[in-house]
Amino acid sequence: MKPISEVVKSIPASGIRRFFDIVSQMKDVVSLGVGEPDFVTPWHIREAVLASLERGETSYTSNYGTLELRQAVAEYLRKHEGLSYDPENQILITVGVSEGMDLALRAILNPGDEVIVPEPCYVSYKPCVSFAGGVPVPIPTTADAGFRVDPRDIAAAVTPKTKALLISYPSNPTGATATREMLEEIVAIARKHDLYIISDEIYDRLTYIGTHTCMSTIDGAYERTILLNGFSKAYAMTGWRIAYAAGQPDVIEAMMKIHQYTMLCAPRMGQVAALRAITHAQEDTERMIEQYNERRRVIVKGLNDIGLHCFTPGGAFYAFPSVKSTGLTSDEFCERLLWEENVAVVPGSAFGECGEGHIRCSYATSLDKIELAIERMAGFVAKLKRGNVEPADAARV
Ligand code: PLP
Repeated sequence: MKPISEVVKSIPASGIRRFFDIVSQMKDVVSLGVGEPDFVTPWHIREAVLASLERGETSYTSNYGTLELRQAVAEYLRKHEGLSYDPENQILITVGVSEGMDLALRAILNPGDEVIVPEPCYVSYKPCVSFAGGVPVPIPTTADAGFRVDPRDIAAAVTPKTKALLISYPSNPTGATATREMLEEIVAIARKHDLYIISDEIYDRLTYIGTHTCMSTIDGAYERTILLNGFSKAYAMTGWRIAYAAGQPDVIEAMMKIHQYTMLCAPRMGQVAALRAITHAQEDTERMIEQYNERRRVIVKGLNDIGLHCFTPGGAFYAFPSVKSTGLTSDEFCERLLWEENVAVVPGSAFGECGEGHIRCSYATSLDKIELAIERMAGFVAKLKRGNVEPADAARV
């Protein structure tokens, strides 16, 4: 056979997947690996879908998504952010933010266009830019700067080929949040160079320190921002695969054109669930946020207490401590922690080069499991400190 696409071949498989393949074959693993709520979708949302199925609602929907859901999203954005989007042509319902990201990039990029991506970042950003024919331009951030991108670094990275900035706060994997001032500076750069801003705000509701600022609310951002948000994290609805994109009619129409030919529409059942969630599940979300916040305090304190310095995350459900004091690379740390103590965390290097020296610990799991994981990690770190280390089973990985 002739070889597969050069672009696809050039992209390494996700660094996270390898760990989950190992974890799935092991017993008694405490996993802080998965970036997915441990809650089940609230019952009234599932019930709304059952009723819809009983009514026989099993057909395709409009390519844009059901008008009711688009109207509800527009109303939500109006009420919570003071933003005005026309549900007829400024909102597209997508198959997760994952699809929204792919559509946004494919809609705006020509071959060779550059997209600036602050790192560490969600694993799919750079591959998606490449799949869309673009060139990702990573900008490193540091724990000392609270993993907030320095707008001056963005400005310095702009070239005549730059087409877009891909910004995401609260951040996966660091839990960093943005300040309004910082977003204002980013928007000023985008305006100066006439760049699109793709803003992935999937963790906006999971903000524990201060309040989240939606990118599109910044002066001068609305007309150039493709706002992506979804239901996976805030409503514990990962499997329903529903999200939305909001932006200018021409961009949304371009995204819809790709979506129309490749996806047709987002799943109807998911759209029914999302409509119920956005109109009736705000209290459920508040309850989940309270629990994430309590877990956040426990895990950050626990990690710092055992000597893994952890910057205080203000959002999402990840802690991103440094493991540099152990002398191990983040990969070595994770492999050995898994084999020797049955605890799964993700190496920071999976999220970009500057993530090296850190690990991502998801606290979207019960307090009991978090406490058990910390206990096992404490033993592991103490063992490393004593230098009393068995030859690593990691060689087997
Ligand atoms: N964006 C970020 C920052 C994420 O962390 C994730 C999932 O972990 C996604 C997007 C994908 O979300 P969805 O389930 O809506 O496709």
